[in-house]
Amino acid sequence: MRRERQTKIVATLGPASDTKAVIRELIKAGVDLFRLNFSHGSHDEHRKSVEIIRQLEKEFGHPVGIMADLQGPKLRIGEFKDGFIALKAGMKIRFDSNKAEGDRSRINLPHPEVIKALKKGSEILLDDGKVRVRVLKKGEGFLDCEVLEGLYLSGRKGFNLPGTMIPVPALTIKDKKDLKAALDMGVDWIAQSFVQKPEDVRAAKKLIGGKAALMVKLEKPSALETLDDILKLADGIMLARGDLGVEIPPENVPAVQKRVIRQVRHAGKPVVVATQMLESMIKNARPTRAEASDVATAVYDGADAVMLSAETAAGEFPVNAVTIMDRIARRTEADETYQQMMENDHPDTLGDPSDAISTAAYYVAQDVDARAIVTYTMSGSTALRSARQRPNVPILCLTPDIRVARRLVVSYGVLPVHAPETVEDFSGPATHAARIVRTQGLAKKGERFVMTAGVPFGTPGSTNILRIAEVE
Ligand code: PGA
Ligand code: MN
Repeated sequence: MRRERQTKIVATLGPASDTKAVIRELIKAGVDLFRLNFSHGSHDEHRKSVEIIRQLEKEFGHPVGIMADLQGPKLRIGEFKDGFIALKAGMKIRFDSNKAEGDRSRINLPHPEVIKALKKGSEILLDDGKVRVRVLKKGEGFLDCEVLEGLYLSGRKGFNLPGTMIPVPALTIKDKKDLKAALDMGVDWIAQSFVQKPEDVRAAKKLIGGKAALMVKLEKPSALETLDDILKLADGIMLARGDLGVEIPPENVPAVQKRVIRQVRHAGKPVVVATQMLESMIKNARPTRAEASDVATAVYDGADAVMLSAETAAGEFPVNAVTIMDRIARRTEADETYQQMMENDHPDTLGDPSDAISTAAYYVAQDVDARAIVTYTMSGSTALRSARQRPNVPILCLTPDIRVARRLVVSYGVLPVHAPETVEDFSGPATHAARIVRTQGLAKKGERFVMTAGVPFGTPGSTNILRIAEVE
């Protein structure tokens, strides 16, 4: 069941894929972590998916991760009398807090705090940026706007306010309910949407209380500006290009992608590239060349994982989409240019014994032609340090904690194995590791692996030993 690639695959479940039969095929095709989108579906539906994934995890005998993605303070307009309205550039239209259904003269905007936060000249982007309006005048509880772009607008569509900091709580009432339900289900990751500032992340961490890892979605320009601080608090980052690409000009997305991946990688945390990666596969069995190139670019950029959204949640070809993604990732990683790119952007050693050992393991593994890097870890931190190096061999991570193993599935090259048996001394681990290296199919008799560990065993953060061992 070992993957022939270092880059991981995240797939979103939905009506097209949430049965046991399809989830099994998705895992076989290459999914490492499943995303449950709490913007859609009931708690019962998500709970059922969690149960299925856990059953299949047993069946396959390797950890599979689960991430609950909270909707966050997603802003939406109200309903229209006719369901939608036709628009024309130059047309004047009012946004107000009147709950009555809208028409061509006025639109219900059920967020009074948003009306307060906007001012003359502010822009509102609706329906993923397909409609653009500018505020001409602000009054008590209303905004008079001019349509700049767009043909139609239907009810309940989302809108974005690029460049405006909105005074909304980081987690809505719905998010808090969803979060509690997700933690009860025992998910491994929580994804937090529309984070604006480090304080939002702090609030989420407090509520999660260590029961799951926290993936911060970058989809607001203000979060990009404070990424340094957000990164200190988050356990992982998702580059949510869907909303981000509305909030910032699309031509800025590629450069931001490169910068963010590099920064998050260097910080030693997983970074996931998301949205529209194989978009046309919602309807077609094959991707466009541009999409293949987009997936490959994320891999060349050094992402930990690439993600599928509607392709697997609501598309016609969920399993196909994963198969194609897996093929693109493998082909790209096999490219010589890719190997050079990973090598050229090698991060500096952080200056503590743990990191010094992880860096050394990376070079030693190359020099002795090792088949794997083996780490023993309680918290997963040693595996993350190794992943940061982007080695071209698997990082076999042995951990007694199944929850740690599941969290690590999203990290570059990490092959987490739940190894509950404890190993007391340093001659034990080499034999123990050799056995798992062999059973995982990483190396044959006579081949080498490099191993890092901390002595005394079981003390977190004590990685201080590097060893070259051989499969006997
Ligand atoms: P979403 O997040 O799919 O929950 O909107 C991803 C994105 O915005 O890209
Ligand atoms: Mn989004």
